[in-house]
Amino acid sequence: MIAHIISTGDEILLGDILDSNSNFLCRSLRETGISVHQTTSVGDSLSDISRAVKAAADHADVCIVTGGLGPTQDDVTAQAGAMAGDLSLVMNDPALVSIKAFFKEKELSWTRENEKQALLPDGSQIMVNANGTAPGFYFSIGDCLVFFLPGPPREMKPMFTHQVKPELIDRFNLEHRVMVERVTVFMLKESALGQKLNGFESLFPHMILGIRVSFPTIEVKIRFKDQPDDHQTALTAMSEAKTWVIDQLGDRVVSFTGKSIVQEVARLLTRQKKTVAVAESCTGGLISNMVTDLPGSSDFFLFSGVTYSNEAKTAVLGVKPSTLIEHGAVHEQTALEMAQGARKLAGADYAVSTTGIAGPAGGTDEKPVGMVCIGLAGKTTATARTFVFKFGDRDKNKRMFAHTALEMLRKHLSSNF
Ligand code: ATP
Repeated sequence: MIAHIISTGDEILLGDILDSNSNFLCRSLRETGISVHQTTSVGDSLSDISRAVKAAADHADVCIVTGGLGPTQDDVTAQAGAMAGDLSLVMNDPALVSIKAFFKEKELSWTRENEKQALLPDGSQIMVNANGTAPGFYFSIGDCLVFFLPGPPREMKPMFTHQVKPELIDRFNLEHRVMVERVTVFMLKESALGQKLNGFESLFPHMILGIRVSFPTIEVKIRFKDQPDDHQTALTAMSEAKTWVIDQLGDRVVSFTGKSIVQEVARLLTRQKKTVAVAESCTGGLISNMVTDLPGSSDFFLFSGVTYSNEAKTAVLGVKPSTLIEHGAVHEQTALEMAQGARKLAGADYAVSTTGIAGPAGGTDEKPVGMVCIGLAGKTTATARTFVFKFGDRDKNKRMFAHTALEMLRKHLSSNF
């Protein structure tokens, strides 16, 4: 199975936008079991788009074209597709109905220009666009199935995932085609991770490891170079390889399914029906932001206090003035009292806290830049730990501190089972 991707639009060629559509499609197609052999970007030119589609159809089993389906004169992709397939452009009734329904639902005013978006190559199957006006469509040119998707990523991505992908899986019988496993790792440098996984290739010569750093975590992806045709054989081989990788990485693994630390925390809190509160100093709200970026976080996230000053730590969270005088703000005892205070204030099952020195200034020999104290309070127990990181970069330190706090919570939640 070979695919070509064509992204259209002058904005791409002018360098005004990054062609993230092709990137998404390459990744998604690979995971579906289809290799992309070529990506092409062309401007809003009828002849260029038509030529690119024709060339792709000559070589590929699948071609996916994005962009240029809008109502304006420079949106010429449907016409170019018709030219490439030697088809006429006709009014597609299901497309017209779906566009009108979208206008009605969003209470948009209908103009004749929008009818243009329903003029599609004869015989096209349409794909309803729930997030915009332009329906997608597809038809065959020779042996190649050519899909046309809208340009805006928020329209293109769901259309690919919910309509193109199932169609490809069904049509080309790809159900068990590709197996990919992902493992997320934390608190391990890329070089150390490489060393731990040294030997994988000789043990599993038909498989390949992909390492993707997304600071401060690393994703290890396990996939086949050549996947056995027999599904059971493939399953067994994948399971052996994944087990080996997990054994090598030990407690540095934070997710067996490629999830982030915060996603794992959310999953565990939801499963255990527990709630959490956060008290942040040096992370300045980053933990709360990471948690609330997750849809559905209101089910378990109750409260966040960014208590930067000593006064706020005392007034809001109830940290004892004597603790601050005796130990200072960056201390395990302070972190402990911050977490206990936040938990009590919110009435949550758990609370985490951070207090540290993100830098670049403010460090001492005793409390260097990169030092963070993290508190974790539950209903019956509370603990605090100190970590020292060596990044010397404020942003990296903050991200590392926030992930470390969430990881402490994740570890605690996983040990509850
Ligand atoms: P519309 O109906 O919004 O005009 P369209 O299908 O005609 O949709 P384009 O006009 O080609 O799409 O692109 C609309 C916007 O979508 C672009 O301005 C850009 O922001 C985004 N976009 C288009 N193509 C890509 C791409 N390959 N990668 C990332 N973003 C893209």
